[in-house]
This record gives sequence, C-alpha cells and structure tokens, in this order.
Amino acid sequence: MSTFQELGLNTDLINAINDLGFTQPSEVQQKAIPVLLEEERDLVALAQTGTGKTAAFGFPMLQKIDINSRTTQGLILSPTRELCLQITNELKLYGKYCNGLNVVAIYGGASITEQAKQVKRGAQIIVATPGRMKDMISRKLVDISKIQYSVLDEADEMLNMGFYEDITDILSHTPMDKSTWLFSATMPREVASIAKKFMYDPIEITVGNKNESTSQVSHEYYLVNGRDRYLALKRLADANPDIFSVIFCRTKRDTQRVAEKLVEDGYSAGALHGDLSQNQRDLVMKSFRNKQIQMLVATDVAARGIDVDDITHVINYQLPDEIETYTHRSGRTGRAGKTGVSMVIVAKSEVRKIKSIERIIKKEFQKKDIPSGMEICEVQLMSLANKVHNTEVSHEIDTYLNSINALFEDTDKDELIKKFFSVEFTRFFNYYKGAKDLAVTESGDSGGKSRSGDETRYFINVGRKDGYDWMKLKDFLKEILELGRDDVFKVDVKDSFSFFNTEKAIEEKVLSFFTDFKHNGRFVNVEITENKGGKRGGGKRRDRKRDGRRRDDKPRGERRSRRSNTLESKGDRRGRRSDSPKPRRSKSPSDRPRRSRRR
Ligand code: AMP
Repeated sequence: MSTFQELGLNTDLINAINDLGFTQPSEVQQKAIPVLLEEERDLVALAQTGTGKTAAFGFPMLQKIDINSRTTQGLILSPTRELCLQITNELKLYGKYCNGLNVVAIYGGASITEQAKQVKRGAQIIVATPGRMKDMISRKLVDISKIQYSVLDEADEMLNMGFYEDITDILSHTPMDKSTWLFSATMPREVASIAKKFMYDPIEITVGNKNESTSQVSHEYYLVNGRDRYLALKRLADANPDIFSVIFCRTKRDTQRVAEKLVEDGYSAGALHGDLSQNQRDLVMKSFRNKQIQMLVATDVAARGIDVDDITHVINYQLPDEIETYTHRSGRTGRAGKTGVSMVIVAKSEVRKIKSIERIIKKEFQKKDIPSGMEICEVQLMSLANKVHNTEVSHEIDTYLNSINALFEDTDKDELIKKFFSVEFTRFFNYYKGAKDLAVTESGDSGGKSRSGDETRYFINVGRKDGYDWMKLKDFLKEILELGRDDVFKVDVKDSFSFFNTEKAIEEKVLSFFTDFKHNGRFVNVEITENKGGKRGGGKRRDRKRDGRRRDDKPRGERRSRRSNTLESKGDRRGRRSDSPKPRRSKSPSDRPRRSRRR
C-alpha cells in the first residue's frame, strides 16, 4: 500500500494530512489520486460517503489549481447544503497550507449577496448545491466558463432529488475541455446516462463492497409484527446502552411521530426532516454531533450528507421504497475505519426485500430475534456494572464519606451492591418483567403469546360502495386517527360495511373519535365486533355499550341533538386538537421505562 507521499502529493498537502492525523490513504484515495494527478481525464468512482472520497478528489484538485490566480477553476456540485458545507470545510482543512486559497460554499437558504461577495473576492474552488448555483449563474454572479475541473459528488442522490435539469444547465456553462469526476454510491441508469452524456472515456474505479468502510458494517434484520415496530425499536435501543444512531423512517410524519414517542419515553432523541426550518435542522444536527442526542430519527432526504463519524447503529425503522437507498442509509455507520451495525426491523411481508438488498450490497444479513425483556435487563445491568467499575473516583465525595459510611454501617458488601444496582435496574426489570416476546418466525407465528387477545376488531359502516378497498380504508383510518402505518390491520372491506383491527390499547381512542364523526356528509359509525378477524370475514357485530347503554338504545331525538351540538368535520377536529393542550401521557407500559437523559 502506498503512502500519501508515494501518491505524488506535494508538501503543503502532506503537512495538512499530517496535521489531520491521516496515516494511510483509503482505498478510493489510493485508486483515484495518482490517476487524477497524472492525467487530465474524466473519472467515474463508485464510492460511498465515509470512504474518504472528498480527499480523493480534493487533494488532486488542490494540487492542480493555480492558487495565485483568482479565476474559478474547480466546481464541485453536491446534493445538500450539509454536504456542501462539509466538503468546503474539508477542503479548507486539506488546503490550510495553500496560501491564498479561497474555497466558497454556495447553497440555498443563506444570503445570495454574501455568497456573491465571497465569490467576487476570487474563489478558485466553488462547492455548490445545484439549485442555488443555477440561480447565481442566471444572475451572472458567478463565472464558471474557465473551470478546469468539475466534480459531481453523490451523483445518484442529486439525480434522486430531481437535479438532472439543473446539472445539465450548469454544465452547459462550463468549457468542453474540462475534466469531470463523478462520485456515486450506486450506479442507476440515470447516473450512467449522465456519465455518458457529459464525460469522455472516463476511468472507472469501484470501491464497492471491497472497501474498508462497508466491510466494517454488519447487517442484521429483525422480524416482528408490523404493529410492534416501535416496541422493537425501543428494545434494540435498550439492548445497546451506548447506542449513537440514525433511525430511518419513510415519511416525515412517521419520523416526527417516532422521535416524539422516543422523547416522551425518556430517550434522548430528535427528528430531522424537511418540514423543519433550516434553523431547527441545524440545531438538531448540532445536538447530535455533540452527542446530546443519542437517536436521530430522520427521513432519507434530510439525512443526506450527515457526516458524523461515530455512529454505532443505523436502524431502518421501515425499509426505504427504493432498495438502493439502503446503501446510503447503512453507509452512515462504519465510517473512518470504525465498525457499525445496520439493523432492519421488518414485517413478514417485507422479508423478500431483504433478499433483494443482499443482492445489491453483496452481503448477507444475519436474522436476529428482538432481545427478550430479561436479556435487556441483563445487558443494562452489566453495562451499569462496567460503567461503575470504570468510573474515576471523584474526591469531592471524600467530605461526605463519613456520613455515607455511617448510613451503611450495618450493610455488607453484597447487600450494598444489590441496593446500589437496584436503583437503576428495578426500573428496567419492572418494565420488562412479563413483557411479550416480539420475535416472529418467517411462517408468521409469534414467538410469544398470541396477540389476538390484545386486539380489538371493529365494524365500520363504509365499504366498497363508498369507494374503499382495504388499502384506501386503511389509509383513511390512519390519517383521521393519526395512527402509524401498522396500527390499523386486518382490514376487510365488504360492499356496504367493513371490519378492521387495532391494538386493544387504543380502543378508547378509536371509539371516542367516531362518536360523532361525519365524513362526506354522512355519519361514520364504528362499533366493536366479537370476531377477531383471524380469518378474513366479518363475524357477528356486537353493539358497543358505552355509558352503560347500547348506542342504538339512545332515543333518536337525543342522539340527533347531541350530534348537532358537537358535529365536527375532520378539519374542525384537527383544528381543535392542535389548539388543545398536549394530551396527557398515556400510562400504558409502552411508555416506560423512562431513560435518564444524557446531558
Ligand atoms: P468522506 O468519505 O470524504 O466523507 O470522509 C469521511 C471521513 O474520513 C472524513 O471525516 C475524513 O476527514 C476522513 N478521512 C478521509 N481520508 C482519510 C484517511 N486517509 N484516513 C483517515 N481518515 C480519513
């Protein structure tokens, strides 16, 4: 393996590399740097984030540009503001001994005038997001007509985000004879077509599965009932007391919901998604970087460009729609030579996706069971014991030692240890004692007790005639009841009525919501049925008794007048809800144990 000197880098760069403490070039650097230094050629590199690719294009670019000139010579396009800033910072570090170097970041959401001013001072390298770059070109605030090097970083992500047109437009303002270096974690058709269209005879290098970074990531999947996803997530977190993780959800709403639930349950968690303002996102990322947040719940789009090196676990709360996205997710861990675990929580219907992902990443997943309650208790206890064992004694305590000794005068060592650990352990033990087994086999059997006793099956007076199929009805219920994807199940739609199930724990929420609910000008009636819906079909309906009275026993006049006083459309209900104080926290066991937050 070559050293950085042997790759041909100059003294200014070697000095910066020494300051940064990089001892050896990474694989992508070994492969790309010598070629890019020696030849004026296009390059396509298949490399994920975390492999050291910024330096792979950054070192050659810094060495080749003329620092004494104020002309813009290098342009790097990246998909997100975060990545744009990250690349800019890295380049500044790499070029700290290149006197006169000016690297400018151009991205949306910040003052365009200020960015234009910085460019005007003479930026040899511009790092930009496509949208803002296009804007600045059209306003003639930048001149890229003389660039010699262009980099398309995370090209697959840029295309995923719909930047094809912008990229094409930007490149049309650059000279034909420049070199283009394209970096991408995956090579979908669109990226290949960009390479074909804008590059001439590129050298191709792959730092795929052989690279140090990805071989550091192990992949595990956990099969659970879809509706146990959240409980499973908590167990995975509890079974890994020092977890520092990114949890991926598919939608912004799920991301927010899962983060809120985690926070309510006492975990140090935060949400990162596109509905947050840039300021809010910056704050969350700052807390995550400082490790004040242990679990960052994110959407794929928002998580692009997360450049945190110590992430221990990536948890796929839900699998992505595009399985290629899995590569990006798992690449957030196992960075910079560290090991990492990428975990997937899957329902039975998604297991085949695991097989497809295995083909893409060319690695096998390990099927694991969600740890049992007692396993978690043991892990937590031993983790605490180790922490206590490794704690440096604070001599501030010496002053109080006599009083403490007096208190424990009659307590022997074993007893003292038991008492000490019980303080923390009892919380976990009480929560997990008798907790059900969440693991399911691939044939669908629950490893633990049958769930049918925990479910409620409902009758609802809408059906096919009203335009519903099972999927539409499920979506409708999820939406109006503000439930997660897996909280409504066994949906069975008949002609004029339907059935569905929820966990028994939310029965009251469902029933009270439908007390007076009107949709499309019609009252929607939901009642409990006796049949649990194990087999497809309805089963006998039992009218719900509330307030000691059968609903239909109510005199019609009374029912009408009560409804007319409280009638609300979906929108009205929502409006009122958002104004009302936060609901009282449920006392259900799923809300416990609360974790002590890290400060
Ligand atoms: P990147 O793939 O460019 O996002 O780099 C991931 C991380 O690895 C960054 O924090 C870099 O500073 C770091 N890095 C890059 N090259 C090396 C190297 N040769 N040795 C150690 N760390 C590196």
